[in-house]
Parts: sequence; structure tokens; C-alpha cells
Amino acid sequence: MKVNLVKYTPEPEKMVAVAARLCYSPAGGEKLFENLNNEEVVKLVRFVVKSGHLSTTEHVVFTFAAEGVSRSLTHQLVRHRLASYNQQSQRYVKFHENFQYITPPAVSNNNKVSDKFAEMIEKIHAFYEEMLDAGVEVEDARYILPAASETKIIITMNGRELLHFFTVRCCNRAQWEIRQLAILMLKLVKKISPVIFENAGPNCLRGPCPEGKFKCEVPPKASDFDA
Ligand SMILES: Cc1cc2nc3c(=O)[nH]c(=O)nc-3n(C[C@H](O)[C@H](O)[C@H](O)COP(=O)(O)OP(=O)(O)OC[C@H]3O[C@@H](n4cnc5c(N)ncnc54)[C@H](O)[C@@H]3O)c2cc1C
Repeated sequence: MKVNLVKYTPEPEKMVAVAARLCYSPAGGEKLFENLNNEEVVKLVRFVVKSGHLSTTEHVVFTFAAEGVSRSLTHQLVRHRLASYNQQSQRYVKFHENFQYITPPAVSNNNKVSDKFAEMIEKIHAFYEEMLDAGVEVEDARYILPAASETKIIITMNGRELLHFFTVRCCNRAQWEIRQLAILMLKLVKKISPVIFENAGPNCLRGPCPEGKFKCEVPPKASDFDA
């Protein structure tokens, strides 16, 4: 899996701080942008994130390019509605050259099934090719492709949605692959916005675990998410 932070709102923490200060100031946003110093920015951002005044974090957006992930992962990812996505199409991109797929570690580490998994994928791939050769359109042949198929996706989320996404997807209850993606994304944004995201991650980093009987035995540590 590869994920890069390709674009983001410049000076995101200052943007959030300006939005917060504007609510209580006679000055306009432009003046505040000129006048707020670093110390005030850090204080304001900490305050709004801690107090839940999270609409201020909606003014900053982060765009990621992910590849080497499965269709299974992206199916889970796009359930997060307050985000924008563009994904490589299986209608317009043929999968007959370099057919890539993701093998879950639980399969590759299990020698009772790992070879068979690869064989089944090969069979599916061969039949996909057979359908294309028989004149089936790419958009219809793709119905046979597995959830393991590799895909590429561009994701844009604002600060508030990212905080929510990290809460549910950095948690050990999330599936390994989307969890891996969420952790990589969190590490990337922490480098740019260390204050907005300083306590980001699963609920258990900030309070009691809400998972009840599904609570994990070894909860993650804050340092697992450090940049
Ligand atoms: C461990 C785990 C297991 C899961 N298992 C399943 C499963 O078995 N089956 C399944 O279908 N899904 C499952 N999901 C997906 C889950 O139900 C959500 O669809 C997904 O996590 C997106 O999160 P969300 O709906 O909170 O928020 P997002 O879409 O990311 O939106 C963020 C927040 O905005 C608000 N919001 C967004 N849209 C609305 C709206 N229409 N109305 C009101 N408020 C809104 C909510 O407060 C929401 O939390 C699972 C998720 C996790 C993390």
C-alpha cells in the first residue's frame, strides 16, 4: 500500500484558528489571518478540538493519493460520505496486463490456503481474459473480478471528517487494510497539522473504549500514530 498527501489547505492550523477567533472578534478573517501569532494559533486550535467546536476544522482539506489497496478496502472507505473520491475505473481500465491483487496477511501466512488463493485468482484472471477474447465488454467482464483486485483512489477529506475517520478506522475494530490506510493518512497529516491531529485516533486515546464486548485486549498507544 502506498499513500501520499498530494495537496492540502496552506497553513491549515492558522485557518482553523482564524475561523475560531472570527466568531468572537470584531475584526474580519483577512485581518485575523495577518495578525494571529503562532502561540495564539496553537492555543485556539487546541481549544476548538478539545471543546468540540469542530466546524472550524471544516475549512481545511487534505487530498491523498492511495494505491496498492483492494476494492474491498475502497468499498469500506467510500461509506464515509463527507469526502470526495475518484477511483480507477474497472469499466475503462482493462485488467489483463499486470493484474494486481491484495492478499490478506491472514491468507499469505496460512500455508493451508495461500497457494490456493493465488491459484483461484489466476483462474479468475484467465476467465476474465477469455471473456474479453469472446467479445464481452470490459464493463461486463469485470463482474468476475475479485474484491482483492488492486485499485487506486484519490481521497479528499476536511479536517473534521478526518478526525472522525481516524476515530473509527484507526481502531483495532476496523479491518486491517483500512486501518493501515487510516494510520498512514494520520501520520501524514500530523506532519502538517500536529495540533489539529495531536489526539486523533481511536476513542480509547481520549477516553473509555465504547466497543463493549468487542473491546480489544491490547489497545493501541498514542505513539502508534506519531508522524
Ligand atoms: C468496525 C466497523 C464495522 C462496520 N461494519 C459495518 C457493517 O457490518 N455493515 C455496514 O453497512 N457498515 C458497516 N460499517 C460502516 C459504518 O456503518 C459507516 O457506514 C462508516 O463507518 C461511515 O461512517 P459514518 O456513517 O459515521 O460517517 P461519515 O459518512 O464519515 O460521516 C461523518 C459523520 O457525519 C454525520 N453524518 C453523515 N451523514 C449523515 C446523515 N445522512 N445523517 C445524519 N448524520 C450524518 C454523522 O455524524 C457521521 O458520523 C462499519 C464500520 C466500522 C468502523
